[in-house]
Amino acid sequence: MHFDIFTLFPECFTSPFECSILKRAVESGIISVALHDLRSYATDRHHVCDDYPFGGGAGMVMKPEPVFAAVETVLGMDKETPIAPCPIILLSPQGRKFQQSAAWELSKHSRLALICGHYEGVDERIREHLATEEISVGDYVLTGGEIPALVLVDAVTRLLPGSLGDETSVASDSFSASLLEHPHYTRPAVFRGWEVPEVLRSGNHAAIDRWRLKESVRRTLLRRPELLSETDLGEREREILREIKVEG
Ligand code: SAM
Repeated sequence: MHFDIFTLFPECFTSPFECSILKRAVESGIISVALHDLRSYATDRHHVCDDYPFGGGAGMVMKPEPVFAAVETVLGMDKETPIAPCPIILLSPQGRKFQQSAAWELSKHSRLALICGHYEGVDERIREHLATEEISVGDYVLTGGEIPALVLVDAVTRLLPGSLGDETSVASDSFSASLLEHPHYTRPAVFRGWEVPEVLRSGNHAAIDRWRLKESVRRTLLRRPELLSETDLGEREREILREIKVEG
């Protein structure tokens, strides 16, 4: 998977790609990342990329010319018939909310282009005529699209084959099957008097599986009941849900 990231602040991305799973994914060629500094596509002497909003008001707006020039050059798009060779995602608090299902969907592409806004946001023509979709990482406003772009890259990368040590962890992750994941414990078995549940130390894998599924269903019911659509649940999950409700 190749990510083209268009930003006024490429330095925001340095350390996240230099540690842990993203670093390994880059080193092993599972992902490649090209950071494109929008300022280098501004043609004026001072490389200005923002301007005052028409109509007045607070803050600056990112100008369309450097963003169009950068994206069209890098993606090899013809100005007359601009056909996007891959999704061009504008990070925006007004976009569709990013969820695990969207991460799966995006992980099927071989290339993604991400445009990071800043200041009051980008000129509307970027949204209308360049971006193919807008994605929000949640109902709050951040200073720029750099952190949202990293959220997207991280969530997509861990779904790519080979990026995690153990592929099965993706399958049991929260949201992968409409359920939150079960709790985890590690050594010591007793910490400050708090014990790890007996079943997890029993070596009985069938019992461990059932305990985990039950805790997963219980957690989802308590914390995110809206995820528990009966239609998405299998027979086993439905039976456990009934059991939990009877237990009260
Ligand atoms: N004035 C804009 C509004 O009210 O919709 C917010 C602009 S925000 C300060 C600057 C940039 O940060 C946006 O253009 C976008 O790229 C990014 N951004 C901020 N919050 C975001 C979010 N929740 N999801 C995705 N991108 C976000």
